[in-house]
Amino acid sequence: MVDICRHEEHASQVRKEKKKKREPQWPASQVPSPLLVYKMIVLQTVMDVETYLELFKDGCPDSLRPMMCPHCQEQLMLHRHGHYERTVYFLDNQFLIVVYRFKCPKCNHTDGLLPSFVGKNQQAAWDIQETVLREQAAGASLADVAENLDDVPGGPYTEKTLWRWVSRWGRELPQWIPAAWAFLLKRIPHAKIRAGAKKPWQEWEWLFDAWDQMQAKAPEPQVENLLHWLYRQAHSVAAAVG
Ligand SMILES: [Zn+2]
Repeated sequence: MVDICRHEEHASQVRKEKKKKREPQWPASQVPSPLLVYKMIVLQTVMDVETYLELFKDGCPDSLRPMMCPHCQEQLMLHRHGHYERTVYFLDNQFLIVVYRFKCPKCNHTDGLLPSFVGKNQQAAWDIQETVLREQAAGASLADVAENLDDVPGGPYTEKTLWRWVSRWGRELPQWIPAAWAFLLKRIPHAKIRAGAKKPWQEWEWLFDAWDQMQAKAPEPQVENLLHWLYRQAHSVAAAVG
């Protein structure tokens, strides 16, 4: 009887420990961003898909190898650990890319080194998702946007899919608004910023408008769209807070 009690006590302790392990490892003061739920390694070097394919055609270049584990935060060179293929859809094309995996020699976690032009477990690149946000900010319904995207690679996309993208970005945006405006106004200090009563969609509309003004003034074509930039900001923080 005593043994049974001890066993149950032990089992209960194990359950508690397991439960404890499943809790997110975020500092109490920080609520994780919807983009940061999964730890991953995101390339901080900005590049388009053509550049990625060229740079990674013979494997991950040493200069881009991850030097920090996103799990245990140890600063060390992660070991090569295979690769897998993924199809990524863009507004006007689709590509099969190779994602290289790396393993931490300290904690043994394995992660893919992901380019920043598409999110983890997603196939539609940011340019497709940004088109949805832009059209909705301009007043189109999701049904209309879905119809407009009918011929886009990877489509047709359902309204439910579009709604998921819109909701996730809607939750993500507020925490990046100050940083986004600081970034934009540094590059276009005399930007024409529209003013008026603030409605939820206007922040997107204003940001896209300012982003376009910045792109128009850039001496060379810019690789990043706004969502690509926001995604990179989120994951550079992920590396810092763990
Ligand atoms: Zn590690």
